[in-house]
Amino acid sequence: MSERKRILTGIRPTGALHLGHYAGALENWVRLQHEYEAYFLIADYQVSDYADDIQRVRDAVWEVALDWLAVGLDPETSSYVIESLVPEHAELSTLLGWFLPVSMLERNPTLKAEMAAMEEPEDGSQERKSVPVAFYTYPVMQVANILMPRAHLVPVGEDQLPHIELTRETARRFNRRFKDVFPEPEALVGRVPRLVGTDGNAKMSKSRGNTIDLKDSAETVTKKVKAMYAGPPRGATEPGKAEENPVFLYLDAFDPETALVAQMKEEYETAGIPNKVLKDRLTLVLNELLDPFRERRAHYEANMKLVREALEHGTKRGRAIARETMEMVRDALDLNYLEKY
Ligand code: ATP
Ligand code: MG
Repeated sequence: MSERKRILTGIRPTGALHLGHYAGALENWVRLQHEYEAYFLIADYQVSDYADDIQRVRDAVWEVALDWLAVGLDPETSSYVIESLVPEHAELSTLLGWFLPVSMLERNPTLKAEMAAMEEPEDGSQERKSVPVAFYTYPVMQVANILMPRAHLVPVGEDQLPHIELTRETARRFNRRFKDVFPEPEALVGRVPRLVGTDGNAKMSKSRGNTIDLKDSAETVTKKVKAMYAGPPRGATEPGKAEENPVFLYLDAFDPETALVAQMKEEYETAGIPNKVLKDRLTLVLNELLDPFRERRAHYEANMKLVREALEHGTKRGRAIARETMEMVRDALDLNYLEKY
């Protein structure tokens, strides 16, 4: 068996992946995929409105796989795992539910914020929307996901840190009380812990419609950057504060020429630079980043059989390690009832 340490991380299949996913998480996955034995999960159990639109989830599973292939996650060496096709995740999640107090969910700041957003009434309505049970307990499912391959490292965006703390605590409790089955996994946050949206909102997110997607064409990127929020109103050559202009946050995140960005910031704050100049630079930088992804994506789109193979083989490997872990768990909990007589 492999001596390499393991990575487990994932994404919910809710649509196309965007620059936030890339800078917060994917970029680290690509960098670490050969150093670790990596399991990348398509977390369909965790799509909050699953029941409303199963067709969308089904399509998004393929979208995510295509985006992963496009950014260069090698399906030969890493496993693309579809969560619900490894039903051991549900089993482990149920068992772990016995060892986690409700207060741990109630305290979880990410869950709290997400639930509050979900309950917001629709425009023009007074009625708060309801949260499905599966959403409330999704952090437990996530704990089960991470523990399943007995992962050592979990590369994620900043919003996921509370869930990883929960995982560490669960591993400690389980190991102390039963047998030493689970490593205590470390979190690894990406270079950009939380990328702002093109509208200036604190987080780039599909549900807010403020994304630049990895599969966007050069024309779409140009259009989106043009329409981007660029800080408080300012005359074209009036000096401004660089930190109030999200275009600079994007340049900080994606422009490899850091000296140039530093120089532009200085000029922006003293003489003033028109937003158009900044946006033209950003458009160029983003298209240079995305071009190789677009090329690889086109190759796989023309060969969907390869995408299917990636999903099939990865899920099979995910299932094999899940079975192994569940044997260890049942043994630790002494759940082999039929062996009594
Ligand atoms: P969206 O809000 O667009 O649906 P999401 O956060 O719900 O995206 P997840 O599947 O929950 O998507 O997250 C996948 C990974 O991407 C997580 O590690 C998450 O932290 C990271 N991530 C998502 N959005 C951002 C962002 N704007 N900046 C940094 N990391 C992000
Ligand atoms: Mg999320």
